[in-house]
Amino acid sequence: MPQKTNRIDGLPQVNLLSGGEEKVVIHGYLGARHDLSKNLSFVPVMDNKRHQIQIVSLHNSEKPRGAHENLRYIRPNTPVAVRGLLRPRMVAKAKNKDPGNQAERPEKQNESQGEVNAENANPENWAESLAKALKGLEIVLQDIQSLNDFPSDIVMTPDTKFPPEQRHLQFIMEGNLVQALETRNSVARIIRGMLNKGSGFLEVETPLLFKSTSEGAREFIVPTRKKNMAYALPQSPQQFKQILMASRINNYYQFAKCFRDEDLRADRQPEFTQLDIEMSFANGDNVIDAVEKVILQVWRLSLGTKLPSTFPRITYDQAMSMYGSDKPDLRIPISPFARIDVLLPADLISKITPLKDPLVEAMIVPLDASPDEARAFITSFLDSTENKHLLDNPDGGPGIFIYDSSKPLQGFSAFGFEAVEQIENGLDLQDGCLIVLQARKKAPLSGGSTPLGNLRTSIHSAAVDQGYLSPVDWKDFRPLWVTDFPLFKPPDSTEPGQGGNAGLASTHHPFTSPKTPEDVDLLLKDPTKAIGDHYDLVINGEEIGGGSRRIHHAAMQEFVFRDILKMNEERIAEFSHLLEALRAGCPPHAGIALGFERLVAMIRSSKDKKKRSLRDVIAFPKSGKGEDLMMKSPGPMSEEVLKTYHLKLRE
Ligand code: ASP
Repeated sequence: MPQKTNRIDGLPQVNLLSGGEEKVVIHGYLGARHDLSKNLSFVPVMDNKRHQIQIVSLHNSEKPRGAHENLRYIRPNTPVAVRGLLRPRMVAKAKNKDPGNQAERPEKQNESQGEVNAENANPENWAESLAKALKGLEIVLQDIQSLNDFPSDIVMTPDTKFPPEQRHLQFIMEGNLVQALETRNSVARIIRGMLNKGSGFLEVETPLLFKSTSEGAREFIVPTRKKNMAYALPQSPQQFKQILMASRINNYYQFAKCFRDEDLRADRQPEFTQLDIEMSFANGDNVIDAVEKVILQVWRLSLGTKLPSTFPRITYDQAMSMYGSDKPDLRIPISPFARIDVLLPADLISKITPLKDPLVEAMIVPLDASPDEARAFITSFLDSTENKHLLDNPDGGPGIFIYDSSKPLQGFSAFGFEAVEQIENGLDLQDGCLIVLQARKKAPLSGGSTPLGNLRTSIHSAAVDQGYLSPVDWKDFRPLWVTDFPLFKPPDSTEPGQGGNAGLASTHHPFTSPKTPEDVDLLLKDPTKAIGDHYDLVINGEEIGGGSRRIHHAAMQEFVFRDILKMNEERIAEFSHLLEALRAGCPPHAGIALGFERLVAMIRSSKDKKKRSLRDVIAFPKSGKGEDLMMKSPGPMSEEVLKTYHLKLRE
């Protein structure tokens, strides 16, 4: 293979003395050839990042089996080495002219070369000026060599879509997949730069072959050749990082591979990467400060976006009662919910719920629609089978009313005169607005969302589809911290939980500290009321990460295991390494983990103005069923393997 003299993206830097020529050899992938005549062809050659340079190929009558003829045998997409003369691009005056005369006017090119050299250019401007500079150049072909012919049975048209089984072809076809990996790489670099720079963070790798402990999620088990002995892959490096704090590594971070054998919901991966952080002599505020700085810098350098220097904070209870979600999307133009039961007549309440003495919340959806359009919209929304689950609620379905100034009491007669007056007071209600009522029990909120919260997001996206609400702005970011989660929750039947017998599971994980001394007291009286020092970072309705201040006293940690979660002795023994480490003078500490792919997908969605999934920012993602369709993993175990690992399949 001829050695290259230049990369394609380096060609604008080649010194072409007074518009002359320079011999170059480049490597790249051949594009689609365009034959202007038998004697003259143009073909782009591009690199993996799709920087492309035009090759001009002229028939040389003295060399009838020369490069021009070779070029015609090489299929597009073939990797090639091209030798030729780099020169300013000439513009053809007319089609099919004699090649000797066609190349007359060099395009202005020095200017654009200058632009490429501009320092501190932002990446997008840089890419644009590079493309422009390359357009000002061409290579007159002297020799071309195929480095591995591209087969004729792989057909690539601009519309071809390749399946996940052919991930390599997806990469070749879809430029944005390569860009996503570039973004991933640059976001990681920004984060490393921030944390390494003077903040005293140490990047530490923790093992992937771990052991099974009951942290919360279901683990993947790795059998060993020792009978009945298995490793488990870590669901997070939580215990390792806490042990690092006890080991006097003050500030730790890692891009940690995590594995969770969970039922795969949309956009989840069984194997993913977290930016994992832990800080000693620190509380939640210190972690929040450090993370805000990192996020600000990532947004500034990746998107040129300036986020507020501190993010708003709301408690879990506020988030759930204002937005019906523990990860509210603050971009949605639907006002926070208002409690309205005191205003409503009893007979209206009894029509929307079978509950006695319920709490009724209302949200106003400011549709940009006439009352008739609003009626048609909401009727088809409620009738759609896709939305059936939103109405399936033992506490009663939603009561939906449309503001219509042509109707008595604007369409709200059922509310009664006084209630309508109060509702209208101070609210800018327009024709076509919806008021959605939803009843619930007067009881502490739990879980990730309420029925009204689910309606908020579903009605919003349906209204956007119909053009009744404006779509989200990809450059609009509304970060917030959700804090003060209940320390414990009823166990989720889909997760193994912490394996205690108390009928309780930790909301975050069993290492999270109660928030205040009062919450410590509540552990004895009513643990379900205790608040944890736990914080989630939410951006545009997505939980980007979560963390907490940890229990750093061994006795307290053991108390939570034994007396609150009611783990048996065997389970507690699984954590003996952690208890031992806490006992050895472990300082107070706190930390967080951010879903690295979620972060990158959010940046990419903004750049591409299109929702990007976790799969789009992972080189080799797993399918919705947790399979790698290209590698065909997981694969069956042979008799041989079963024997080696002392395993037997149950009938
Ligand atoms: N280990 C936790 C998780 O994976 C994050 C943390 O508390 O730092 O969710």
